[in-house]
Amino acid sequence: MKKIIIAIDGYSSSGKSTMARDLARRIGYVYVDSGAMYRAVTLYAIEHGMASPEKGVDTAALVNALPDIHISFTPAGNDGIQHTLLNGKDVEREIRDMQVSSLVSPVAVIPEVRHHLTALQQEYGKEKGIVMDGRDIGTTVFPAAEMKVFVNASPEERARRRVKELTEKGENVTYEDVLENIRERDHIDTTRKESPLRKAEDAVLLDNDNMTIEQQMEWLLKLYEDRDR
Ligand code: C5P
Repeated sequence: MKKIIIAIDGYSSSGKSTMARDLARRIGYVYVDSGAMYRAVTLYAIEHGMASPEKGVDTAALVNALPDIHISFTPAGNDGIQHTLLNGKDVEREIRDMQVSSLVSPVAVIPEVRHHLTALQQEYGKEKGIVMDGRDIGTTVFPAAEMKVFVNASPEERARRRVKELTEKGENVTYEDVLENIRERDHIDTTRKESPLRKAEDAVLLDNDNMTIEQQMEWLLKLYEDRDR
């Protein structure tokens, strides 16, 4: 069967990553989490004193440092989860914490950061057979992707899911803080100048407020199989 590119975009914590990863595993494709790449750049900026909640982001310093930031992924383990490596170090846990979450959207508005990561993402897509999730995959990274999905759910439902996920990982977070972070990221992601979050015209909308992960998977597989006929 001819390999294609599958782009899954949508709002923060809409469940895109889970569904993209599961789909890739089911159909034997490579999965790439583009959000993890923005998170890794943000972690680098924090660790090198270029970003903090008090001072915001030092754009000039970060842009200068881009050639020193190398991001890669480990192959998926038995649990199907691949880990993000920043300059060879496994940072999968650190990039998911609230500090990175609160600074990642301001980092992701920087055009040079976007160009740098977009080029890397396009490199991953060269061989096709890839599922990539993010905010601008169907619009900017792979505008010619053969299958595009745009995922949405209410901010409240997304905050509930995120709190559950973070609490299970042992992070101490409140629903109010997480909801605020989600609303803030939605706002920055949809209003930024450079490739803002929006549904590509040819993307299929999935509103998953009232769907289980299994129902979502069934919906996605059907979309994949129907378009491949
Ligand atoms: O997908 P995730 O929530 O981990 O992404 C973290 C942040 O990275 C998003 O809120 C967004 O600001 C940024 N991002 C982006 N473009 C992408 C993927 C993520 O701007 N393709």
